[in-house]
Amino acid sequence: MSKNSSKYLINRKDNQYEVVIGLEVHAQVLSESKLFSASATKFGAEPNTQVSLVDAAFPGMLPVINEFCVKQAIKTGIGLNAKINKRSVFDRKNYFYADLPQGYQISQFKDPIVGEGKVILDMPDGQKEVGIERLHLEQDAGKSIHDLDPQNTFVDLNRSGVALMEIVSKPDLRSPDEVSAYIKKLRSIMRYLGTCDGNMQEGSLRADVNVSVRAKGSKEFGTRCEIKNVNSIKFMQMAIEYEANRQVDLIEEGKSIDQETRLFDTKKNETRSMRSKEDAHDYRYFPDPDLLPLKLEQKLIDDLKKSLPELPDNKKERFIQEYGLNSYEANVLVSEKEISDYYEEVAKLSDKKLAATWMMGDLFAMLNDKGLNISNSPISAKNFAELVQSIKSGEISGRIAKEVFEIMVESGDNPKKIIESKGMKQQSDPKELEKMINEILSKNKDKVDQYKAGKEKLFGFFVGQVMKLSGGKANPQLTNEILKKLLKG
Ligand code: ADP
Ligand code: MG
Repeated sequence: MSKNSSKYLINRKDNQYEVVIGLEVHAQVLSESKLFSASATKFGAEPNTQVSLVDAAFPGMLPVINEFCVKQAIKTGIGLNAKINKRSVFDRKNYFYADLPQGYQISQFKDPIVGEGKVILDMPDGQKEVGIERLHLEQDAGKSIHDLDPQNTFVDLNRSGVALMEIVSKPDLRSPDEVSAYIKKLRSIMRYLGTCDGNMQEGSLRADVNVSVRAKGSKEFGTRCEIKNVNSIKFMQMAIEYEANRQVDLIEEGKSIDQETRLFDTKKNETRSMRSKEDAHDYRYFPDPDLLPLKLEQKLIDDLKKSLPELPDNKKERFIQEYGLNSYEANVLVSEKEISDYYEEVAKLSDKKLAATWMMGDLFAMLNDKGLNISNSPISAKNFAELVQSIKSGEISGRIAKEVFEIMVESGDNPKKIIESKGMKQQSDPKELEKMINEILSKNKDKVDQYKAGKEKLFGFFVGQVMKLSGGKANPQLTNEILKKLLKG
């Protein structure tokens, strides 16, 4: 198990506090239609163009549960190693806001569709298990737009009724780094499953972040504050750090912490109080009389279980076994399904280990540089595998391979063609190399003498000369061997 690896906690010289974090993640269900209506859910549509009478809460309109969204939630629950509840209930969570025309949100309260589960995080100092408390289905609200007009607030109901999964963790997280790993893991699992696209810029994945602090070693939890609706990992980390320090300051001043709801101001990098924490009874939760309890057949759950793709944890184990990767490499290469597919295609056609090294090095650096992901990589998996094989077979050196790589990025050509047409093949013919080396040694008799007299540093000089003469194409290993042999003679 991972020890608490917080390097943050928390700017206190004696480091005697611990931060405790629990997340309520809102993940938008990947679905073309909403949870209780047939309206579309496309991102970026013109305001109020994806709104049915149900979403606008016209009197008398009745919600009809979307079976596809229910299946998506079950799949996600299975992916979180969680208990699927065969009976769950939709409740009304009552509050008033302009972008909530029903006057209540349909959510699940006492009986959620998914119960306890767990996810495993790979931290630098070992694995860490994070408990899942529950996952429930609920509808999103609309959006109030305050910054288009000085006098008026506009309301866009496109999001109204969109299906969300709220995934509630146990208060098991202990540092901003663990929070980052947790969000990435959830996103990875849901993207493998195709149940949420995980796009944080578009708001498909956001979280309420609950933070408390306590003396290290204490068994009791401190009072928590909940930071609402944070939509980037970076902001979550900044908010936690700020909030933990604020709470420690209060404790050190002998004050107590009020349980409250706060927001994170990304411009000022601070959290601010919004309101004191509302209790569940303030929402007057009650079962929605328009919806029957949701009952699931065991067969449906079993069928969905069978239909699931291989998930990151299993794939990681397989990559270690099948391709001889270490845990770190396997972790990186399974993080996104598309990356793992690309790697497997390359590994089947070339050296598995070298392929991993070159993918995680040069390929990722290039994609990162160009702001691309693997699905629109300018280098196809097949061409990349050819490049790896050319290095492995000794046809080209690692140094030349970098040049070939650059040209592949620009031209999209295959490496064989580039190597041929530019005459970049490595010189690996011992006779040719010997000829070149002899030429250099006879030109530098003085240095040869110095070398033989014990100035061994000069070896590098000779290698450099051979490389220069060969235009960088001399096989480095053979060059070393032959040089050693000839310098002895
Ligand atoms: P609510 O709706 O009142 O916020 P939930 O049960 O939905 O309650 O969510 C509570 C969240 O707060 C969970 O993620 C839980 O892990 C977390 N949490 C509970 N107690 C603490 C605490 N003392 N410190 C930090 N997080 C906590
Ligand atoms: Mg909450």
